[in-house]
Amino acid sequence: MAIDRDSSCRRCRVYCDWVVDPVACLGCSRLYAYDAKDGRRYVGCVEGVHRAEVELAALESCLADGRAFGAIRAARVPLAICSARVEAAYPQRLPEIGCVNPEFREPPEGGTFTISVRASASPDDA
Ligand code: SF4
Ligand code: SF4
Repeated sequence: MAIDRDSSCRRCRVYCDWVVDPVACLGCSRLYAYDAKDGRRYVGCVEGVHRAEVELAALESCLADGRAFGAIRAARVPLAICSARVEAAYPQRLPEIGCVNPEFREPPEGGTFTISVRASASPDDA
């Protein structure tokens, strides 16, 4: 069952957001398409994972050339089928205590994740 949670976290000044790769949406059954008056075909996500409507030809060109299109900020927590990741806007602002909301990075719709703890000697220990 999907976990009800946010697609952005602002609990510290790092500012983390889930983002999705729209090129990976090609072939997804949840992708819709429509032909605009300008003669171009645009695609978007039925599930509302992201709210952008992108020209299909641009995505196909990126796919064919192996280029990145650029990540789109998620409007809701991505689904397990999405190519998604968390981006941190200001990682250098991570407080000394570390991330206080590690659950935010849990993979969409469950799955396993790892919490790493790195112990280092403090100057006071010398
Ligand atoms: S469900 Fe995910 S992979 Fe499918 S169209 Fe939406 S954002 Fe893309
Ligand atoms: S580092 Fe952790 S607490 Fe800070 S914004 Fe990112 S997920 Fe939230």
